[in-house]
Amino acid sequence: LIELDRAHLVHPVASYRGHERAGVRVLKSATGATVTDATGHQMIDGFAGLWCVNAGYGQESIVEAATRQLRELPYATGYFGLGSEPAIRLAAELAERAPGNLNHVYFTLGGSDAVDSTIRFIHYYQNARGRPQKNQFISIEQGYHGSSTVGAGLTALPAFHAGFGVPLDWQHKIPSHYAYRNPVGNDPQAIIAASVAALRNKVEELGRDRVAAFYAEPIQGSGGVLVPPPGWMKAMRDLCSELDILFVADEVITGFGRTGPLFACSEDDIVPDLMTTAKGLTSGYAPMGAVFISDHVYDTIADGAGESAVGHGYTYSAHPVSAAVGLEVLRLYEGGLLDNGRKAGARLMSGLESLADHPLVGDVRGRGMLAAIELVVDKQRKTPLPPAANPSRRIFDRAWDNGLIIRAFGNGVLGYAPPLCCTEAEIDAIVERTRMTLDQTLE
Ligand code: PMP
Repeated sequence: LIELDRAHLVHPVASYRGHERAGVRVLKSATGATVTDATGHQMIDGFAGLWCVNAGYGQESIVEAATRQLRELPYATGYFGLGSEPAIRLAAELAERAPGNLNHVYFTLGGSDAVDSTIRFIHYYQNARGRPQKNQFISIEQGYHGSSTVGAGLTALPAFHAGFGVPLDWQHKIPSHYAYRNPVGNDPQAIIAASVAALRNKVEELGRDRVAAFYAEPIQGSGGVLVPPPGWMKAMRDLCSELDILFVADEVITGFGRTGPLFACSEDDIVPDLMTTAKGLTSGYAPMGAVFISDHVYDTIADGAGESAVGHGYTYSAHPVSAAVGLEVLRLYEGGLLDNGRKAGARLMSGLESLADHPLVGDVRGRGMLAAIELVVDKQRKTPLPPAANPSRRIFDRAWDNGLIIRAFGNGVLGYAPPLCCTEAEIDAIVERTRMTLDQTLE
């Protein structure tokens, strides 16, 4: 398998280098929070795949729901006015639970095309209001919004830009709220004030009548799990209302129990104009994303479409099998998984905080079952690990050997996003195996 993989299977480019040297690690089976590789080595999946298997592996009722749907109707297009029962029911169930008036759901295949879809919907919205020149978009440094060309342009991680002419000329950034390394210091009010000023200035610079929308993750995930201070989302939401630009919350990672509630926006007490989700929506059992659209945006698009062609859609939008999976996953979340995730999340955070006195740990941050520790060689100076020799990758390998999968970001940040079904013992093992791994790194 290792040879066939090397010869034929192209992996996401970010993880390619590690694979070239070590060869692919083939996962064979999984149950609960535990995965087993092809050699029989067992690990706790501290990252739920790619922050997506929120419900945990081996959930028999999801398998049954998918199987039933595969037998009954494996496919239905959303075109020609067609639909399928699970997709309609899932949209209705989600709308009922979404914050405020986010009552309209558009299903995609994942997060990147959910983000792309918002760009289209926002253009249609602004056009329908007779303001086609409102076509500039703003996002945040260290944000991640997908790997499509448009999504990569909103994304602010340099590896996704090199050589592609992105960001596109209508995509702009403001600095991150990243507290640990913020030039304004780590005072929450100062950080909020700096973000508010940065967005206000950027909008003034571009022209209020030209800016369409602002994108924010409730917690910046791929940028290294950067948690904004409480009140940050609300301040940015309110500013967008004041400046007459749409606020898009990208909940692809934070949605579906990752931070505690079904949607992080509820905890932040805000209602975005649009919201993107994926990952936990189907918990990785089938590919699916969902864009939530508020009444005012949806009605404007629908009413304004008129004679102008409003074309958008994918062959696999609202896939009935994914939707059937989504319905069952939602049932599991509300049947105890969200509650367990909240408890496990509190234990995870206090466990990781107990590592704060480790000589390598500069920062511990997170909310619920979404956390990170940032490693430094000098705590006082916050000196990052030396970039040579890819230290994060070596830590990832050691953790693997110790029976733990974590995300090793290139900059010495270790990411945690375990399945919500984790037991207390599994959470404790995640912390203990991390400690063991860090001790070995010191040696
Ligand atoms: N938005 C955010 C916030 C994400 O974290 C991701 C994926 N990590 C995406 C969008 C893109 O989702 P996908 O990989 O499913 O295309």
